[in-house]
Amino acid sequence: MSLPLDELHRLARRIRAVVLDVDGVLTDATLYYGTRGEALKRFSARDGFAIKLAQREGIAVAVLSGRLAPPLKARLRDLAVPPELVIQGSRRKAPDLARLAQVLRVATDELAMVGDDLPDLPALALAGLSCCPADAAPEVRERCQYVCRAPGGSGAVREVVQLLLEARGRWQQVVGEWERGEAELVLDARAGKGSEDEDER
Ligand SMILES: [Mg+2]
Repeated sequence: MSLPLDELHRLARRIRAVVLDVDGVLTDATLYYGTRGEALKRFSARDGFAIKLAQREGIAVAVLSGRLAPPLKARLRDLAVPPELVIQGSRRKAPDLARLAQVLRVATDELAMVGDDLPDLPALALAGLSCCPADAAPEVRERCQYVCRAPGGSGAVREVVQLLLEARGRWQQVVGEWERGEAELVLDARAGKGSEDEDER
């Protein structure tokens, strides 16, 4: 269950990067299978926008998933999430969260983690701010410091980014910049250049 807002803001002000689980966080946990395995994933454009916003505000975004999913790679490339901040096929998420912290040169308690199911619990416990979508497993909701109003794949990530920016006193300014037409973001890293396929992980 969520902590009181002032306590959440106190924790959120220390956060320098967000680590996202994928299935059930960036997606609604549905896996679309074809004969060759996982064929599609459905992502929220609003979550994508929030990821770009976080990056622009100096909050790095990393991904920590237990599965290997080709559609994820395409999405993360479009969002310009650097390959060194993506761990797929993680078997133990707490040590892998610590690895991401090392790559980011931050302490684990300067990371916010968003997860939705039991494999995420050790990493959630290690992070400085533990968050989950509204439809996360009950055991996860019980233990997280921030339970989103939105479910996975439908704005939960955006909500976490908004919380971080509100805690920094930046959210109203960001909204104002968009309202006045002063802000711009490259929402697709491929915009204006060719895309290429290379394999990592
Ligand atoms: Mg998950």
